[in-house]
Amino acid sequence: MGKTKTGGLSKKRQKLLEQLLEQEHLVRGSLVKTSKKCGRKGCRCETGEKHPHVYLSVSGHNGNTIVYVTPEQEAAFRRGIIAYRKAWALMEKISRLNIEIIKGGQDNG
Ligand SMILES: [Zn+2]
Repeated sequence: MGKTKTGGLSKKRQKLLEQLLEQEHLVRGSLVKTSKKCGRKGCRCETGEKHPHVYLSVSGHNGNTIVYVTPEQEAAFRRGIIAYRKAWALMEKISRLNIEIIKGGQDNG
């Protein structure tokens, strides 16, 4: 452990895997801001300013799924999306390390 070059790589990978586990709240999708009419009679949105509204758009094989996001949930979704990007970046780093480790012929994991 730690003596060889690949030993160091394994350590690095372990750290990245730990960081990956920290992204447990990850959410795939993107937040879309829009505005809509609420449908209430006499509401200002009937004629004037519509209500701002946020939803999460998740792309899939059969088109996009729309998830309604309340103002209270918005921050959590935002953090989740950031966590998702971090997770991908970490996976990319782990993949590059694994290429080195496999090429070094000393993968013990
Ligand atoms: Zn309204």
